[in-house]
Order: sequence, then C-alpha cells, then structure tokens
Amino acid sequence: MRTIRLSKSVVGADEAAAVADVILNDGYLGMGKVVQAFEQDIATFLGVPFDWVVCVNSGTAALHLAVQAVTAPGDEVLVQSLTFVASFQAIAAAGAVPVACEVVPETVTLDIDDAKTRLTPRTKAIMPVHYASNPGRLEEIYQFADSYGLRVIEDAAHAFGCRYHGRKIGSFGHIVCFSFDGIKNITSGEGGAIVTSDMAIAQKIRDARLLGVEKDTDKRYSGKRSWDFDVREQGYRYHMSNIFAAIGRVQLQRLKDEFSAKRVALAGRYRQKLEGIANLRLLEADLKEIVPHILPIRVLDGQRDGLQESLESKDIQTGIHYKPNHLLSYFGRGSGKLPITEQLYNELLSLPLHPELSEADVDYVCESVKGFLTKY
Ligand SMILES: *Cc1c(COP(=O)(O)O)cnc(C)c1O
Repeated sequence: MRTIRLSKSVVGADEAAAVADVILNDGYLGMGKVVQAFEQDIATFLGVPFDWVVCVNSGTAALHLAVQAVTAPGDEVLVQSLTFVASFQAIAAAGAVPVACEVVPETVTLDIDDAKTRLTPRTKAIMPVHYASNPGRLEEIYQFADSYGLRVIEDAAHAFGCRYHGRKIGSFGHIVCFSFDGIKNITSGEGGAIVTSDMAIAQKIRDARLLGVEKDTDKRYSGKRSWDFDVREQGYRYHMSNIFAAIGRVQLQRLKDEFSAKRVALAGRYRQKLEGIANLRLLEADLKEIVPHILPIRVLDGQRDGLQESLESKDIQTGIHYKPNHLLSYFGRGSGKLPITEQLYNELLSLPLHPELSEADVDYVCESVKGFLTKY
C-alpha cells in the first residue's frame, strides 16, 4: 500500500525549467538578478516596498541575522519552548540567550502572560512562533514589546501567505522571518527571508548575509563585484543563490494559484471529520485567514503514542511538532519546569498535510484516527 506522507515538497516541471533557465541561459548561479526578482515578487505579494525584503539561504539564517541585528551577546530573547530547535539555535548563534516560555494550549502559540513574568533588564526581544500558521495573540505581544522597548522577531516559518486581522503576515510589525525549506508553504529548495520596515535593520542584515561586506548587495544586483570595501560587523555566507530563487519564484505563483486553496480545503475537511471525537482536540484556527502548514491535533488520555503506532501500521506518517527546547541538554540548563508545554508534548500529533494529499487520503486518515480513539 502507498504510504500517506506527513509532508512533501510539491515541485515539478515548472520548477525544473526555471532552474534549467538559470543554468543554461543565465549562467550565474550565485546571488544576482533572480534573487532580486524573487525579493520583488515577495514584496509585491505582501504589499510592501522592495527594500523591506532580504532573502537568505534558510529560515534559520533569517532568524539568526534578525536576532544579531537587535541584540548584543548576553541579551535575552523570550521565546516559546515548544518550537522547532531552529528558533533556539538562531538565538544562541547570535550570542543571545533564549528564555523558554509557556504556550497557550488552545493554539500552541506564545503565552504572553507567562512571557511577561520572565522579563529582566537583559530582555531585548521577543520571538513569537506562528505555530501551525496561527499568529496567536500578536496584538498583545506588540503592546507588551512597545511598553518595554523590546523588538518583536516573528518566527513566521509556518505562516507564509497567512493573515492576521486581515493583514498579511510580514506586511506590518518589527521583523518577520520566513522559511522556504523543502516542506514549508512555499519552498526554494532551501531558503528564507527577513521582512522589516526598519531600514537600518534591513541594511545591517543585507550586509551580514554577504560576510559583512558593506553594500555588496547593490553591486551584485547590478552585475558587479566588490573589490574595495569595508567590513564593520560579523557577517556570514547566508545569501540566497539564483538557482534557489528561481524555484521560489515558481512556488510563489503556485501558492497563489493552487497551494493556498488546497491546504485550506484539506485542513477544513480534517476539521469537519475530526470534530466531536472524545479525547481529541483540534487547535484553534481561522481558515479564512491562514494557510495551514501543519495539522497538529491533541490526543488526550495518554493515547497519543498508541494512535501514532496504529496510524503507522496503516501506512500513515505522523509527526510530533515539537520536542520542547527546554528539555534539550544544550538549552535546558537552569530552566524550570514548563508544565503546560510538557503536557502538550505528550498530546500533540501532526497528521499528513501537503498539497498533493487527496480528499480520499484525508478521509482515510480521519477514519483511522476515529477507529482507534473510539475503540480502546
Ligand atoms: C522550518 C522552521 C524554521 C527554520 O527554517 P529553515 O528554513 O528550515 O532553516 C524555524 N522555525 C520554525 C518554527 C520552523 O518550522
């Protein structure tokens, strides 16, 4: 029997043709005019000026450069423990300290009330993670940040194409980071982007992605190289290549034409079929505003592992998003218990979701889930 995959890169002939075009016709594989065009496409899609958008080679790099731009070593960043390890590693890579916070169980997004209790004189930024594409209590997070002079760095890796109160994520706020890795709402193979209206931060990040070489981006976009230049800050080799940008440009068009509607419809079908099952909780989600990247459910009564095994035996892949970071050796030292987060870690199970999943696949997954949870 065919395995129903948890997630999948949905790429094909159009992406292949775009890559071939860069290789055969453009011949320049580094960061050049295709990356510039992808940044322009993203800006147009979000409805923001071109110079707000900076593409890099991963979502982790986007977060790292964002944190580096607004913190000094030893500064603290408030972040939910229940996130992909990339959020924590990006903070640590900048020399800052990730301070693990609780999440709200209904959405698995940052619990702002808990975060407030962890504020210290060293706190410089707060990183809400738009878990399962839900921006959570973003308004309150910005209010809190504004009252204490903190920067908000949105980990919007799950949230490309989503809206909050009608406005596109990335079109407002402080610093918003997207991921375009293989399985996100759109992919560029690997890649990411920082979007910010703060031109000083945007310029810092633009230089830092090219080893800190000042104004190197302008040179590359006009087909030139920098031979005489200055470097004033730590930089990295984090720029995006024309090959990856070519894939990303096709994917952005496909998001508009097919992926968004497909993901929303599949998630809607799941929600309809899984409603009212005892011991199963859906997360809160507004499918009129979001493009769902993953489909986590909460399985109560200690049945999660049993359900996962049962689905596995029916060739249905599932995932656990995520192991809380305060439980990891590298990040756990000194942090206390986070009871809500730890409880959720035992309950969360992500069901298959990607644009090539069929309605019949969703029905089969839902029947299998129902069958297990109503039987035991
Ligand atoms: C994917 C992801 C990242 C990192 O993005 P990469 O492009 O894989 O480096 C960061 N945070 C979250 C929540 C993610 O899901």
